[in-house]
Amino acid sequence: MKKNMKRMMGWIFTAVLICCIGFTTKGVAADAAIVSGGKKNYSYSELQKDLKQLEKKYKENCQVNVIGKSEDNRNLYEVVIGNPDAKKHLLVIGNLHAREHMTVQLCMKQIEYYLSNYNKKISSKKVSNTLDKVAIHYVPSCNPDGTAISQRGFNAIRNKSLRAGLRRMGGSSSRWKANARGVDLNRNWNIAFKSAGRKGASGYRGSKAASEKEIKSLVRWVNRIEKQGKISGVVSYHSTGSILYGRCASRATKKVRSVTNRMYKVAKSLTGYHLMPTESIAVARGCSREYFLYKRNIPCITIEVGRGAAPLGGGEFGSIWAKNKNVVIREAQLFQ
Ligand SMILES: [Zn+2]
Repeated sequence: MKKNMKRMMGWIFTAVLICCIGFTTKGVAADAAIVSGGKKNYSYSELQKDLKQLEKKYKENCQVNVIGKSEDNRNLYEVVIGNPDAKKHLLVIGNLHAREHMTVQLCMKQIEYYLSNYNKKISSKKVSNTLDKVAIHYVPSCNPDGTAISQRGFNAIRNKSLRAGLRRMGGSSSRWKANARGVDLNRNWNIAFKSAGRKGASGYRGSKAASEKEIKSLVRWVNRIEKQGKISGVVSYHSTGSILYGRCASRATKKVRSVTNRMYKVAKSLTGYHLMPTESIAVARGCSREYFLYKRNIPCITIEVGRGAAPLGGGEFGSIWAKNKNVVIREAQLFQ
């Protein structure tokens, strides 16, 4: 009996010890992650909280700006990492499609990862050297209203008439792709534009090109950066099917075609995602990638992360992160 008691006490002691070590390790990690990984539904309020903390912790190398408002009056944030006066600029956008909101978390994780490794090397190049020459401008969430709908339902929209409009459109809120006015933000760009579809969860291009506040703000943002220097390329994050859009039609200039191809190869080598064929402009009317490639002559790739249907489960984040964590800094290295 006594012997058993002793043994039991021993187990309890060991268990407590393991717990304490666990907590201490967590405690030591005071310098650890601001942006959480591996959970579902990274929200707008979490994004705001994390942006504040990142800006505070890494103020030397990170700037957060509001570049406009969404239809339901949420902020569209830009995060600039590196030297804002650099001659070259790489643009990264996430979450044009509402339910693909895991891309917001992915962009935020990348931002934190590059900032926390600022004086270290990634793929044998010092991060600070790259970011001195190529500033990276992120808009992690281009569609914060749609994200709120996908995560919390139509009630998440604060404007009464927008909310009533959404109820009339109906459909699944969690599978929502559009913004709070039922316009698909990846179909509202001024390239071969022709209105089509019906207001709702996906596919409606809008009454005219750039009719939506989000797109107006993004276009203004691109115009502003173009005045600051050269936009070397755009990386656009979506989350459907582990595929890459990296080809251009012959209407792209030779230079745009060859740089896009180089960007694609970097993304391919790290993610292993499957390359998709070129889309005809008749299919891709109003799409952001075609707008950058053919209207603005800016090389652009689209990366679709994840295997399941969007919104992705939090369990997918780990494997997505492993494949994508170095993608954007490696793209920036192409241009330094
Ligand atoms: Zn998408």
